[in-house]
Amino acid sequence: MNKLLPTSTAGSLPKPSWLAEPEKLWSPWKLDGAELAEGRQDALRLSLAEQQQAGIDIVSDGEQTRQHFVTTFIEHLNGVDFEKRETVRIRDRYDASVPTVVGAVTREKPVFVDDARFLRAQTDQPIKWALPGPMTMIDTLYDAHYRSREKLAWEFAAILNEEARELQAAGVDIIQFDEPAFNVFFDEANDWGVAALERAIEGLTCETAVHICYGYGIKANTDWKQTLGAEWRQYEKTFPKLQASGIDIVSLECQNSHVPMDLIELIRGKKVMVGAIDVATTAIETPQEVADTLRKSLQFVDADKLYPSTNCGMAPLPRGVARGKLAALAAGAEIVRSELSA
Ligand SMILES: [Zn+2]
Repeated sequence: MNKLLPTSTAGSLPKPSWLAEPEKLWSPWKLDGAELAEGRQDALRLSLAEQQQAGIDIVSDGEQTRQHFVTTFIEHLNGVDFEKRETVRIRDRYDASVPTVVGAVTREKPVFVDDARFLRAQTDQPIKWALPGPMTMIDTLYDAHYRSREKLAWEFAAILNEEARELQAAGVDIIQFDEPAFNVFFDEANDWGVAALERAIEGLTCETAVHICYGYGIKANTDWKQTLGAEWRQYEKTFPKLQASGIDIVSLECQNSHVPMDLIELIRGKKVMVGAIDVATTAIETPQEVADTLRKSLQFVDADKLYPSTNCGMAPLPRGVARGKLAALAAGAEIVRSELSA
C-alpha cells in the first residue's frame, strides 16, 4: 500500500435482509441453489459499494459469501460429517453442537476462489480475503479420527495453504487468517499453533495477516470479557512468537478494549491492523474517537505500518450502524493522516 494509514475491516459486514435474517450472527440463507449464488454476488457488490462509499481503502467481500467464518469453509472439505454432531466447548467459553471429523480431511476443489475472482473483477482497489486459521478450525469440530488437535491443525494448515495459493493467483492482495483461538490456548499457540499458521502461508508472495480478537459482540463473549479483569494481557502470550513468524500483518482489537496499547511494542516490525471500531456496541464512534485510538497506537507502531481497522466483524450490527462505523473509521484515519503529513 502506498497510501499512509490504509483502512480496512477485520471481517464480516451485515447481509441484506433478503439474503439472510439481519442482525443475527450466522443466520441461515434465505435463498438456495442458483438464486443463492446470484444473491450472494449481488450482496457482495452492495457490500463493496458500501465500503467504497465510506472511503475504505482495502476492501473485502464483507463475508457475503459465507454463513459462518469457519464452518462454511469446512463444509467444502471431505472427512467431516455434518450430520454426526457432538457438543463441545468453543474456546473454553460456550457449548455448541459441532460436526465430527470422521476421516482424513481433504479439499477436493477450491472453496472461495471463484468468489475472490468475482470480487477482483469488481474493483482495482487492494482486496483482502479472510480464511479461518488452523487452530480456530479444530476448535469448532469434534475429532473422532485424528484424535489429536495438533495433527488435525497441521492437516488443515496444508489445506489452507492450497486454498491461499489459489486465492493469491486469483488476485487477492492480502490473505487473512482468523485465529481468535490464539487468545485462549496460549500454550498450544506457542507449541504448534503459530507454526501451523506459518505452514498455511508457506510459499505465498502476497501479504498475509492474522486476526486475533476477543470475538463478536455476542453474550458469551461479552460475559467472558467481564472475567478478564482490568487489563487484557492475552496478546502478550503469543506476540513474541508472532513477531518471529513470517506473518506480515497482525489484526487486533483495540477500541474500548482493555488491551494495554504498549503490548503492540512486542510485535514491532509487523504491520498492525489496529481495531479502532468497537463491534460490540451500536454507538457509532466519532472520527475524533477513532483518531485518538490511532494516535495512541502510533507510540508503538510506525506510521507506515499502521492499518486502521475494526475490532472484529460487523455482521450482527444494523446495516446503517455498520455504514456509520465504516465512515467514522475512514474519517478518523484521515484526521491522523493529515496530522502526519503536516
Ligand atoms: Zn474477530
